[in-house]
Amino acid sequence: MNLVFLGPPGAGKGTQAERIAGMYGIAHISTGDIFRENIKKGTELGRKAKEYMDRGELVPDEVVIGIVREALAGESCSQGFLLDGFPRTVAQADALEEMLQEIGRPLDRVVNLNVPDQVVVERLTARRTCRNCGRNYHLAFNPPKVDGVCDACGGELYQREDDREDTVRARLEEYRRKTQPLIDYYRDKGLLVEVPGDGSVDEVTRAIQEALGQGHGHTGS
Ligand code: AMP
Repeated sequence: MNLVFLGPPGAGKGTQAERIAGMYGIAHISTGDIFRENIKKGTELGRKAKEYMDRGELVPDEVVIGIVREALAGESCSQGFLLDGFPRTVAQADALEEMLQEIGRPLDRVVNLNVPDQVVVERLTARRTCRNCGRNYHLAFNPPKVDGVCDACGGELYQREDDREDTVRARLEEYRRKTQPLIDYYRDKGLLVEVPGDGSVDEVTRAIQEALGQGHGHTGS
């Protein structure tokens, strides 16, 4: 199963991607997580990405495309992959298509998580993320058992720089301008499945599973 998850920031892509990838036994590739790991390690890539991320802007296409090319070549993708947060521009989508053609692994489905704007802003500003393992929490709807501490690994929870309200608005603007056109792009290719993303975490997971069991598209790789 080779999948892409689309949706505005705060749609729950990361949370759902982790669950679905686990269920299908496929690699979860999150470009945002790769950047955050590089920032933590202080690499050159992290330094470059941080400039854009802190402003709520997209990292330049050529940087992101190189990272995804490398990730897709990894052994962990042999059973399939779920791309979370990539592609985010038409140029990235075109590059992805070319890469997948080269390695003979076409996409099976593109899942678009639909969430209204006011829900996005509310979710992101209340989001806290584990500095150690990257797991996300919501202060009201999905709080950690102990304040400020990750349930999974005991790491420290923090508010991502780009989850502050003014940056969230900039990210939504970037999304509208650059990423939303991908909905039509993938609809035209017959790959798109739309899933409402504003239910509970479990409800949305079930809706995605149902959507993946239906419709057309390439299967069997
Ligand atoms: P995310 O964790 O997916 O919300 O990504 C956080 C930030 O990383 C984004 O706001 C961008 O600045 C950057 N980023 C992640 N994926 C991409 C991508 N495919 N293209 C450009 N920038 C990206």
